[in-house]
Amino acid sequence: MVEKIRCGDSLQDGTSQGRISQILPLEMAAKVWSELTIVDLVVYGGTSKANYMTVQASIKTSLDRLLLPFVRSGGVCQFMGLLSMERAVISGSMALFFMLSCSLTGAQGGQGWGPADMDIYEPNDEDKHSKIIGYLIAEEGYKEVECKVSPLGEGYNLHSQIKKVTRLRRGRYVVDVMNMSSPDAIAAIMRFHSTPVINWISGDGLFCAYPQLLSKKRGLINPMGFTLPKFSPKLPPANVRACLKKYYDRGFDIRRNPSCWPGEKHVCTSSTNCPHTIRSMVDQGTMYYRFKKPDESVGIHMIEGVDYKGPYCSRYILYWSLGGPSCDQKHRVSRPFIMHREEADD
Ligand SMILES: [Zn+2]
Repeated sequence: MVEKIRCGDSLQDGTSQGRISQILPLEMAAKVWSELTIVDLVVYGGTSKANYMTVQASIKTSLDRLLLPFVRSGGVCQFMGLLSMERAVISGSMALFFMLSCSLTGAQGGQGWGPADMDIYEPNDEDKHSKIIGYLIAEEGYKEVECKVSPLGEGYNLHSQIKKVTRLRRGRYVVDVMNMSSPDAIAAIMRFHSTPVINWISGDGLFCAYPQLLSKKRGLINPMGFTLPKFSPKLPPANVRACLKKYYDRGFDIRRNPSCWPGEKHVCTSSTNCPHTIRSMVDQGTMYYRFKKPDESVGIHMIEGVDYKGPYCSRYILYWSLGGPSCDQKHRVSRPFIMHREEADD
């Protein structure tokens, strides 16, 4: 597995694997395809230009199938353009489901579960009317069914990051729009209970903070969920345990640190899979897959002075460390943190 995963990269040995379908019988190729996560797909897309084009098309097909039922009136393109303009992202179960179910054939399913609703995180609206909520109501026929100042759904304490949650419903389709207290939509996602859900789909691409773990259906507990002032137990509180159980049931092996997996060795505070390493959303351990647009100038919201090409349109780069108990029991517990820092010019 390459350390830095970007579409367009070649595998470490520099060889081109060719198209799977040209090497294997169709049934065997279909079996291989069905086992690939999006992380594998992105690596596969890096093996040749033909494979890159195939992967681009497959991701688009998979994304259309996932989102179209929610935005059947205006369509996926318009909705993604709106997400991009508003610097909003889809996260939670839907983003995870997409990471796992996106396939070369554009098929969905096969995970034994599916996202019940769509969670959208949008930057602080400064009490103006949310364009996303406005669009979903006016164009897509949703109705506002609930508006709370505390988070819904996962029952997980997201601290003060979330200012308001608006639940919209149209028939069996439910959309929760989380309005942040900060000018960026993504800091709350770093506080999710475990690494398998630290992902997002923006209007411009897909971001995964721990792709190597995700591709093995592994994850780390995020101590940020239970080191808040009101939580001081050694174990995660009941609501976080319930969330974690849901992901255990979905086949994830979630532990405190990589040393908990037998035979797994890592360099503490340096490996991108160590909870004590200081990570950033543009470092070598992340995966960002940028969607190809027919017209690159459409749908990308530019902030003045920001040359936007990263996984989230912002003046700032997000840094974090999950922290928590030492991996080898020889060091002190480290405190988790999240911070924004402007990208250095040099
Ligand atoms: Zn470690």
